[in-house]
Amino acid sequence: MGERIQHHAMRTVYLDHAATTPLDPRVRKAMEPYLKSEYGNPSSLHRWGRNARMAIDAARETLAAALHADPAEICFVSSGTESCNLAIIGCALKAPPHRRHILVSAIEHHCVLHAAEWLIPFGYEVELIPVDGYGQVDPDAVRERIRDDTWLVSVMHANNEIGTLQPVEAIAAICRERGVWFHVDAVQTFGVLPVDVEAMGCDLLSVSAHKIYGPKGVGALYVRARTPLQPLMVGGGQERDRRAGTEHVAGIVGFAEAVRIAEAVRAVEAPRLTQLRDQFIQAVLETVPEATLTGHPTERLPTNAHFRFAGVPSDSLLIALDRAGIGASSGAACSAGSLEPSHVLLALGWDEHAAQQGVRFTLGRATTWEDLQYGVEVLAHEVARIRGKAPVTP
Ligand code: PLP
Repeated sequence: MGERIQHHAMRTVYLDHAATTPLDPRVRKAMEPYLKSEYGNPSSLHRWGRNARMAIDAARETLAAALHADPAEICFVSSGTESCNLAIIGCALKAPPHRRHILVSAIEHHCVLHAAEWLIPFGYEVELIPVDGYGQVDPDAVRERIRDDTWLVSVMHANNEIGTLQPVEAIAAICRERGVWFHVDAVQTFGVLPVDVEAMGCDLLSVSAHKIYGPKGVGALYVRARTPLQPLMVGGGQERDRRAGTEHVAGIVGFAEAVRIAEAVRAVEAPRLTQLRDQFIQAVLETVPEATLTGHPTERLPTNAHFRFAGVPSDSLLIALDRAGIGASSGAACSAGSLEPSHVLLALGWDEHAAQQGVRFTLGRATTWEDLQYGVEVLAHEVARIRGKAPVTP
């Protein structure tokens, strides 16, 4: 076994697609003119400006079509983070003083959780919606918590750490019935699973380009017509007065190309990834002793496999995997290196000790079964090695 791993030492396998994805060469090609000759400011009236404006308009149509929205409802922003900040803070700032109760699920990405917490000193009350052991929000738990002063609810489409999908349609129906605005963070599902704002029934929805083989630093917020929204960036009147600042034209063009490709391959990629994911999960559970799958067995992202290896600290394992050429993660990339246990794993009811033992593998377009077999082999070896050093704790 040891020799075999030595033999594979130079092999690299990227299994952290939930953190980010490589830029698709077709996306780079689509962006290139806007990094070279097409440098106009989209707000300028001359031909240079008009060319840039036309590119943004076309990109907006592509995003709108993919999301089943109207182009006017798409607001380009600098990231998934900004999209979620604008949705939560921007919508909350429009709440009348007697409607300042906000509900967010306990397992939201920090860009939602911290945006909600940011509002507290300004007189808002933020309540967390709990999840079950699979990481799912029960729509009834939302129904029970909506009060007369509730203004906004935010529940993500799929969790970035453990991959669990949420019953967002049912939650949207409850919000609509109670006259409460509903935001969905779809950063992890968009491009992988269908995201249809009409079928979903949400008022606000966040997406990001770099999770779908597009460039980093560009995202979008879907804003259903008539949804109250206070801009957080002020200056010019860009993005229909919802987000001031000269648009990142090349990034927006790249985002649209990434969306076009994702939509074109989704029917083939989603089942392929689901099958690979299940094969990988089965192989890990069979090969590595005392490994358990985190999250829901079926209601999960096609790209996500998250495990706990009892007695194995995730940081030691991740270093060992990296040495063997495998890129995995213990959760959100932006929280990596932090000593805090994952809030997502704690919300599942895990104790702090267990929450230090979670490892996430996320598959992507280039992932093959051979890559995953290598992953299983290295995992089995490294988990055993680390356990040999430190006794397994119950
Ligand atoms: N929401 C979720 C669920 C994510 O996984 C991420 C990724 O980091 C974000 C929001 C933030 O997106 P971005 O990296 O574009 O700021």
